[in-house]
Amino acid sequence: MTGIYIHVPFCKRKCPYCDFYSVCRPDLYEDYTQAVCRNIEAFKGRDIKCDTIYFGGGTPSVLSAEQVDRIIDTAGKCFALCQPEITLEANPSSVDREKMSGWRKAGVTRLSFGVQSANDRELGFLGRLHDFSQAKSAVETAAQVGFRHISCDIMLGVKGQTLESLWDSIESLTALPVDHISAYMLKIEKGTAFDCDEMRNAVADDDMLCDMYLQTVGQLASKGFLQYEISNFAKEGGKSRHNLKYWHGEEYIGIGPSAHS
Ligand code: SF4
Repeated sequence: MTGIYIHVPFCKRKCPYCDFYSVCRPDLYEDYTQAVCRNIEAFKGRDIKCDTIYFGGGTPSVLSAEQVDRIIDTAGKCFALCQPEITLEANPSSVDREKMSGWRKAGVTRLSFGVQSANDRELGFLGRLHDFSQAKSAVETAAQVGFRHISCDIMLGVKGQTLESLWDSIESLTALPVDHISAYMLKIEKGTAFDCDEMRNAVADDDMLCDMYLQTVGQLASKGFLQYEISNFAKEGGKSRHNLKYWHGEEYIGIGPSAHS
């Protein structure tokens, strides 16, 4: 069955390490929503069966519940949706109870939070707009409004991060009501604000990154989060079906300015 990936190209502010395409243009949220719906309508009548929708970014959580609802509703009219897993990537700084409750009612089944660390100094270095208490509260609220599938991202190799601080971050994240963790290694990308020798010398070297990665794999396994591909770990029943489509070479349709099919 096919998956649908919807790229939402907006962020409130650009993180200094990120080379994904995104712009800070709240004035375009509505035009973008209408354009996505028009793109989806082009598939009407082709009887394409879909079982996953993934809102990735950028920061999909800048969209309102009504805008997400409209996109899912349009998808429901143009594709044959079969008990879909619908994931939305969320930034802890752009969510609240009402919005998350609205996404849930719109059919979103899974939230993926870009937490990155439980250490506020590391979050500051990464230029994130949230601290850990905000991220914790966002995840707990998501669970309270009914999300049974919640993922958190964690970043390895951040300046000043140690094996101990990484350990503590994973302890904090796995204590939250989450069933999935994505662990990514910080990479200095060309053209980003971090693309300078000073930063290259400040972040973890390859040996340290390797130690961090292996520690992460072992620590998460001990908490019941089993690795199912390079960066992703899930409890029983928590694997991302959409994510697995990429690894299994299945079909997916990309919609939005930086998506491909
Ligand atoms: S919020 Fe995510 S997509 Fe946006 S700039 Fe930061 S890392 Fe990149």
